[in-house]
Amino acid sequence: MRVRRLSVHETTPRLVEVALPLPLFQTFTYSVPGDLQHPVTVGSRVVVPFRNRREMGICVGTTKGAGLKRKPKAVLDSPDADPAVGASLLELCKWMAEYYVVPLGVTLRAALPAAMTGAEDPTPHRKTQRVVRLSVDMPSLLHREKVFARAPQQRAAFELLESLGGKSTVEHITSHLNATASVLKGLEKKGLVIVASEEIARDPFSTRAGISAHRLTPTAAQEKAVDAMAAAGAGEVFLLHGITGSGKTLVYIELLRRLVDEQNRTAIVLVPEIALTPQTVDRFRAAFGDRIAVLHSALSEGERYDAWLALKRGEKRIVVGARSAVFAPLQNLGAIIVDEEHEASYKQGETPRYHAREVAIVRARNDGAITILGSATPSLESWANAAAGKSTLLRLPDRVGGGRLPSIEVTDLRKIAVDYSGMAQGGVDYGAVIREPLHDAIANCLSRGEQSILLLNRRGYSSFIQCIDCGSVATCPHCSITLTHHRNPERLVCHYCLHKEDPRPDCTRCGGRNLKQRGLGTQQVERLLSERFPAARIARMDFDTTSGKWAHTRILDRVASGEIDILLGTQMIAKGLDFPNVTLVGVVDADVGINLPDFRASERCFQLLSQVSGRAGRGVKGGRVLIQTRIPAHHAVRYAVSHDYEAFVREEMAGRVDPPYPPNVRLANIVFSGLKEDPTARLAIKAGDWLRGLIAARAGEQITVVGPAPCPIERIKSRWRWHLLLKTEHPGEMTRVGRYFMEKFDVPSVAQLRVTLDRDPVALL
Ligand code: ADP
Ligand code: ZN
Repeated sequence: MRVRRLSVHETTPRLVEVALPLPLFQTFTYSVPGDLQHPVTVGSRVVVPFRNRREMGICVGTTKGAGLKRKPKAVLDSPDADPAVGASLLELCKWMAEYYVVPLGVTLRAALPAAMTGAEDPTPHRKTQRVVRLSVDMPSLLHREKVFARAPQQRAAFELLESLGGKSTVEHITSHLNATASVLKGLEKKGLVIVASEEIARDPFSTRAGISAHRLTPTAAQEKAVDAMAAAGAGEVFLLHGITGSGKTLVYIELLRRLVDEQNRTAIVLVPEIALTPQTVDRFRAAFGDRIAVLHSALSEGERYDAWLALKRGEKRIVVGARSAVFAPLQNLGAIIVDEEHEASYKQGETPRYHAREVAIVRARNDGAITILGSATPSLESWANAAAGKSTLLRLPDRVGGGRLPSIEVTDLRKIAVDYSGMAQGGVDYGAVIREPLHDAIANCLSRGEQSILLLNRRGYSSFIQCIDCGSVATCPHCSITLTHHRNPERLVCHYCLHKEDPRPDCTRCGGRNLKQRGLGTQQVERLLSERFPAARIARMDFDTTSGKWAHTRILDRVASGEIDILLGTQMIAKGLDFPNVTLVGVVDADVGINLPDFRASERCFQLLSQVSGRAGRGVKGGRVLIQTRIPAHHAVRYAVSHDYEAFVREEMAGRVDPPYPPNVRLANIVFSGLKEDPTARLAIKAGDWLRGLIAARAGEQITVVGPAPCPIERIKSRWRWHLLLKTEHPGEMTRVGRYFMEKFDVPSVAQLRVTLDRDPVALL
C-alpha cells in the first residue's frame, strides 16, 4: 500500500473569487487545483467551467468559502505566469463597475486586449521567427582558424552575426550568405550559437514614412503650460484650452520629454480616432521613436496583444491610442493626456458604457499621475469642472507664430431664393447647394493653387426619398429611421443597422410615381463639384470612402502632398488636420444635426463649426471660412463665427438650467428595448413606477425620474425602444439607485426584453 502524504493544499483546497464577463453582479467561487500551469493570484486569468461552458475570468481575491451551498468547481487552466491584471488596473475596473453599474467581469474584459479574453484559446497566437544568437566570444584569430578550419561557411555566418551585434534572424543570415540552415546547425552543435524561436512584435505604424525629426522650440506660452503641468502634484487635472493651431501637440510632447525622458515615467496619450489623426501620431513618433506603441484600429488582435505585452514589459513607455488605451498596462505612470477631450467618441457605445476622459482622471489619481484634457472647444463638463476648481485651466490663446484665426463669413440660405424644381429628376441645382460666395471662394482658391476643405456632415447622395403625392418617406424596415439614398452602387441604406435595399420606382404606400430626393449628402456634393470644376482634384472622405484599413491615411497623405485641391467630407475632416496650404474652409450646410432632440445638439454644432474653421489659415497665406446656414442667429453659429468659446458656453449653460441638464445635473439614461412594442412600453412604465416608489421611500428629493417615453429613435435593429432619465446632483445617489435598480428590477423573459443603463450619456437618441 502506497502512503500518500496530504499537503495542506489538498485538505483545504484554496478557494478564489472569480469575476466573469456575464450580465451578473456577482463573483463566483472556484477551487484551485495543485497541478495548474501557473499559480493563481489576484489578477490572474483563469479558465473556469460555467454552465457547461468554459469562461475566461479574472481572479479578484481569495475566499474562505463561508456560506457555500455546493462544493465549488475547480479552475481548469491558468494561462498567466504573471497576473494579466495588475493591482492598479483591478482598482480601476472596480471603480468602473461601481460607477457605470456593470458587473466587474465586464469591465475587466473591456480593459484587456480581445486576444486575452476568449476562453477557448487563452494564449493568443503570436507570430514567431527563428533567431540566431552568438553564445560565445571568440577574440583570438588563431582559435578562430582552428575552429573553422574545414567550415568556411560557418565562419562566414559566425562573422556576419558578429558584425550584426551578435543577433539576427535565421532567414537574414541564410539568405545573405546564400547558405542553408545546416550551416547554423553546425555552429549550434559546436556550441557557438543558439537558435531559438522568438515572438515578433508587429507595429505596422512604424513603417509610415515622412516623419520629420525636426525639433521645434516651444513658444513662451507653450513653455509656461508645460512648466505648470510638470510642477503639478499627483492626481492633478489640467484643462488645456488652446485655440485651433495654438500648438497643443507640442505642449504634450514637451511634457512627455520631461516625464518620460528625464523622470523615467510612462504616459498614455488618448486621441479620439487614431485613423483620423495620422499627423498627431507622426509627431509623437518623431519625438519618441520606438518607445511609443500606437494602438491603431487597423491592428489585428495579435498585434494589439503584442503592443500590450511590450507596454507591460516596459519595452514601450508611451502609448498613443483611442479610448481603450486608457487601460494600457503601464507602470510608473506620469500622465494621461486626453486630446480633443470634447469628442463624443471617448464614450463607449456599448456595455460597459464608460467615458475614457472620466476613467483617465480616476486612473491618473490612483496611479499618482496627472491628467491633461486638451481642446479648443472643451466640453461643458470640463469647463464647469475648471470653474469649480476641480481642475486647473491653462490657456493657449494665440496661434503659433503670430497667425490669426481665419475670418468667418455667413451666407444666409433663407435670403436667396432657389428653384428646387430640378430635384424631381434626381438632382439638385449646383447653385442651390454651393451659393455664390462659396462658389467664388472655391474658384479663387483653385486659381491660386491653394487647397480647400468642404464640410457637409451627412453622407450618402440625398438624405431621404419622399413621395410628393402622399408625403410618405422611405424608412428602414428595422429602425424608425429614413433610408439614405446612396449611389455607386445605387442603394437605399439605413445608417443605423446598415440595411440596404434597391430604390423603388413608386411609393410603397400610395403607389404614386412622383418620388423626390430630399436633402443633400456628400456624394451629391461631390458630383456637383466635379461637374462644375472638372479640372479640380477632389477627394471625398466619409464613412463610405474609408472602409479600408489605411483609407483615411491615404486620403490625408494625398492632401498633405498637394495631390488634392478640394477635400470634401463629413465631421471626419474637422479633426486635428494641419495643412498650411488650406486657405478656404466651406461649410455647405451648418444646420445638419442641430434640430436633433438631444440636449447636446447645439454644443456639437458649435464644436464642429469651430473645429472645421480651425483647419483654415494655418500657413502664412492665411485663410477664410464660409458657412452656409439657415440659422445665422443661433448661438452655436453666432459664437463660432466670432470665435467666442466663452460666450457660447455662457449662453448654452444658461439653457441647461431649467430643466437642468449636464453639467448642471448628472444623468443616467435607462433604455428598455424588446422585439415587441407593447411589452417594451409596459416594462418602461413599470420601471418608472418602481423607481419612483423606491426613491420616495429611500431618498426623498435627491434624485428625480423623468419619463418614461419612447426614445427619439423608437426602433433600432427591429427592437422597440423606450427610455427614462434619472437626474440628480449627487453622484453617490445615482450609483446607489442605479445599482439597486439594475440588480433588483425584474425583467420578464419575453420579447427579448432588455434594460441598459447609460451613465453620463453623450447622446439621448
Ligand atoms: P493645435 O492642436 O493646437 O490645433 P497643432 O499642435 O496642430 O495645434 O500646431 C499647429 C502647428 O503649429 C503645427 O504645424 C505645429 O507643427 C506648429 N507648431 C506648434 N508649436 C510650434 C512652435 N513652438 N514653433 C513652431 N511651430 C510650431
Ligand atoms: Zn435600420
